Amino acid sequence: MKELIEQLASSHTLDASAMEQLLESAIHDTDTLQHLRDTAVRIAREQFGRGVYIRGLIELSSYCRCNCLYCGLRRSNDKAERYRLTQAEVLACCEEGYRLGFRTFVLQAGEDATHTDEWLVSLVSEIRSRYPDAAITLSLGERSEASYIKLRQAGADRYLLRHEAANEALYTSLHPYGRGLAHRLSCAEALHRAGYQVGLGMMIGVKGQTIPHIVEDLQLLERMHPEMVGIGPFLPHPATPLCDEPAGALNLTLATIAITRLLLPKALIPSTTALATLIPTGRTEGILSGANVVMPNLSPSSVRAKYAIYENKASWGAEAAEGLVALENELQSIGYHIDYARGDFQR
Ligand code: SAM
Ligand code: SF4
Repeated sequence: MKELIEQLASSHTLDASAMEQLLESAIHDTDTLQHLRDTAVRIAREQFGRGVYIRGLIELSSYCRCNCLYCGLRRSNDKAERYRLTQAEVLACCEEGYRLGFRTFVLQAGEDATHTDEWLVSLVSEIRSRYPDAAITLSLGERSEASYIKLRQAGADRYLLRHEAANEALYTSLHPYGRGLAHRLSCAEALHRAGYQVGLGMMIGVKGQTIPHIVEDLQLLERMHPEMVGIGPFLPHPATPLCDEPAGALNLTLATIAITRLLLPKALIPSTTALATLIPTGRTEGILSGANVVMPNLSPSSVRAKYAIYENKASWGAEAAEGLVALENELQSIGYHIDYARGDFQR
């Protein structure tokens, strides 16, 4: 397997059957997994040194018109606590985040029908004029191309829209009421056309997903060359149809992050909140698999528990914007540090 890993590290490509062999080997053989992760760390350090970029995550609304089977915010979850931040509340989060040193704000939400283009354009323009040196990332789901263009013109720089599953049958089984995989991918293409840095990604271990499905995901990432890639374990939420499914496996998640780093050396890859929720050391394990970004929670503390996409979501301590000292200590324990720069994709 070592030759395969070296080949991937130098050529940044691997055919599907070799990729499948590598993933299988990494989850069954600790030496292969360790070599894969060490190689990914080496490549990440060549690009980013030992700095880890931070992004302040502001969760705008827990209302969602979609019904993704895995997510606690799905519209059929009538037990979900719904809230929606006002523009003044979002701006107060940005003010606090900027003071703490954040130079990227990530505005994320369910697909809330009250988030019209007008409302969002006014919010994004205001953040842009108050913080000209900060990056604005949006994660608001599927919208029209015209809407993406307006928001880009208002000052948004990046957009996170995980593809969720590159295999059409798997995608459809997880989103039986959705607009389909082709639509999701056409949104990602529209975002690229509008000039955004785009983030794709997927959960690991979601119901029905096999290793060949993950290989399809990795091949899609290789083909579409996203600037950012979010990969985390699936975590069950008790009020969803997938409540009894097991969480995604740690080793498979780490192996997938490491392979992604070798495929896309320059990509911005977060060590996700889901990974930090799966196990207490998840954040550092992600960095030690080639990730180079963390996204502490900057939402008002009164709403954090309500943005419950899965159970026990981490939003305190090193996962909280006000916990940057804890995060710095955690990173220093593995020889890394926070990098306070905007951290744009470098071509
Ligand atoms: N509504 C937007 C969207 O779906 O793109 C943004 C918010 S959504 C909560 C952000 C991401 O959360 C999704 O892309 C999905 O991969 C992830 N997610 C949702 N439910 C999850 C779960 N049960 N376990 C792990 N990740 C989950
Ligand atoms: Fe809504 Fe996003 Fe959750 Fe799907 S994943 S239900 S679109 S918030």
